[in-house]
Amino acid sequence: MTDFSAEFSNELAALDAQALRRRRRVVDSPCAPELVVDGRPMLAFCSNDYLGLAGDPALAAVAQEGARRYGLGSGASPLVCGHMTPHAALEKRLADFTGFERALLFSTGYLANLGAVPALVGRGDAIFSDRLNHASLIDAARLSRAELNVYPHCGLSALAAALAASRAKRKLIVTDAVFSMDGDVAPLPELLALAERHKAWLLVDDAHGFGLLGPQGRGSAAHFGLESPRLVVMGTLGKAAGGAGAFVAGTDEAVEWILQKARTYIFSTAEPALIAHALLTALDLIEQGDERRAALAARIAQLRGSFKPKRWTLLPSETAIQPLVIGGNAETMDVAAKLYERGLWVPGIRPPTVPAGSARLRITLSAAHTEEQVGRLVKALTGLER
Ligand SMILES: *Cc1c(COP(=O)(O)O)cnc(C)c1O
Repeated sequence: MTDFSAEFSNELAALDAQALRRRRRVVDSPCAPELVVDGRPMLAFCSNDYLGLAGDPALAAVAQEGARRYGLGSGASPLVCGHMTPHAALEKRLADFTGFERALLFSTGYLANLGAVPALVGRGDAIFSDRLNHASLIDAARLSRAELNVYPHCGLSALAAALAASRAKRKLIVTDAVFSMDGDVAPLPELLALAERHKAWLLVDDAHGFGLLGPQGRGSAAHFGLESPRLVVMGTLGKAAGGAGAFVAGTDEAVEWILQKARTYIFSTAEPALIAHALLTALDLIEQGDERRAALAARIAQLRGSFKPKRWTLLPSETAIQPLVIGGNAETMDVAAKLYERGLWVPGIRPPTVPAGSARLRITLSAAHTEEQVGRLVKALTGLER
C-alpha cells in the first residue's frame, strides 16, 4: 500500500469506530414507498418524493416522448447550444407558477445555490446564514468569498444585530424555507422585513417547500404572500416535483444577472431536455395536486397523533420531514438497523449532517404512503423504544 492509501484506510477505520461510515444500498425498482432493495422488498420512509411523482408511470411515459423528440443529452451548456424548447417553456412556467418575473433552470439544487450566491455577493460583501442551512448554501457562501456570519437557528434578534453592525457593501441573508433535517419552517416574513430594513437581499432555499406549501403548491413565498424585489428563491425539481434539476426565481434583473455570472450555469451542461419536458407535466400534477397534499397531511397527522416517544424526541415539525432525535450515533444506527431487519427503511442521520449529539432518524412521509404503512412504522418504533 502507498502511504497515501494507508492514510485513507486509517481514517476510514476511524469513521467506523465512531459509527460514521456511510454505506449505500442498491434499489432495483422505481422510487415509491415499496422498494426492492438488494433483492428484498422494503417499506421506505427515506425519499424526498413527497407527492409520489418520481416513479409515476405517466410521467415516465412523458419523459419517453421527450426522449423521442429531443434525444438523450442537451450537448452543451445553455449559453452555447444546450438551451432547448422544453427548458425555455419550463422556465416560463416556473416563473408564472411561483409568481416571480423570471426563472432560470439549473441541473441541480446544489449547483443552483453554488452559482447564485457568488453571483449575488463577493469580496467586501456579507452573507448572513442560519446555523442549520443546507450544506450547499454553506459551500456557496465559502465560494463567494463574502464575509460569512452564521446566526442561531431562526434567531431573528441576533440576525438583526449582525445586519445593523455590518459595514459590508452588499448584504445577503440565506435560509432554508423548510429545514432539511428538522422539518421546521423559517420565519420568512420576518426575514424579509429585516432584509428590507437593512437593504439586504434574501435568498430562500425552497427545496422542501416547492410543490407542498402555498396555494396549489406554489412554494413558501406564495405560502406567506411574500413579494419583494429583494427576494430570490431557489426551488428544486428532484424532490416534490419528482424529476431532477432546480431553478432560481426573482426579478428580471436579478435573474439576468445570475445568468450572466453564475459559473455553475455557464460552465455546466444543460439538464437533458427530456427531463424539462416531463417536468412541465409534473408541474400540472403539482398544480392539480390538492388531493395528494391532503393525503400527505393526513399521514403527517397520523404519525404525530399515534407515536408518542418517551426517551426519544419527535421534533415539532408540521412538514413531511419528521425527525426522530435519538442522540448517539451508535444507538441511532442500531435502531435504523433493527427497523431494516423488520423490513422498514428509515435513514439514520449523523454528524456532520446534523449537530453532534443530535443523531436522528429522518422519517419522510409521502402522499403515496398508506395509513396501513404508517401504522406499521409506528408499531415498530414503539416496540423498539421500550
Ligand atoms: C436537496 C437540497 C438541495 C440540493 O438540491 P439537489 O437538486 O438535490 O442538488 C439544496 N438545498 C436543500 C435545502 C436541499 O434539501
